[in-house]
This record gives sequence, structure tokens and C-alpha cells, in this order.
Amino acid sequence: MQVRVNEERCQGHGLCRLSAPTWFFPREEDGHAYVKDSEVPEAEQDAVRLAADSCPELAIEIAD
Ligand code: SF4
Repeated sequence: MQVRVNEERCQGHGLCRLSAPTWFFPREEDGHAYVKDSEVPEAEQDAVRLAADSCPELAIEIAD
């Protein structure tokens, strides 16, 4: 599974980090999210999907 944050959509709410704190991190300059790695291992996929569902800007893009 692949994941990325659409930087034009991300507003830095941080809700993704509540669902997947090991995968999404805030950029120092503006708080927008970046991912630890674009390739998500099986063990982290449920949390990353939850994060995508919780993003109010639909900024988290997943490809299986
Ligand atoms: S919840 Fe969505 S908009 Fe907010 S920081 Fe995470 S990716 Fe960005």
C-alpha cells in the first residue's frame, strides 16, 4: 500500500497524527503533515487508512 499527503490540500490540522502517530509527522515550518515512508507495511495499514478517513481536507491519498 502506498500513501502520500497532497500538500496543496493539507491544512495542518494534525488529525492524521491522532490516528497514525507513527506514520504522520508535522513539518517544522508550517505543521503540514509528511509521511514516514510512502510504502506502508501491513501492520500500519489500518492506522493509515483511519488517518485518511479522518482527514477533513481529503489530503491523504492511498493506492493499493
Ligand atoms: S489531517 Fe489532513 S489536513 Fe490535517 S495535517 Fe493531516 S493530512 Fe494535513
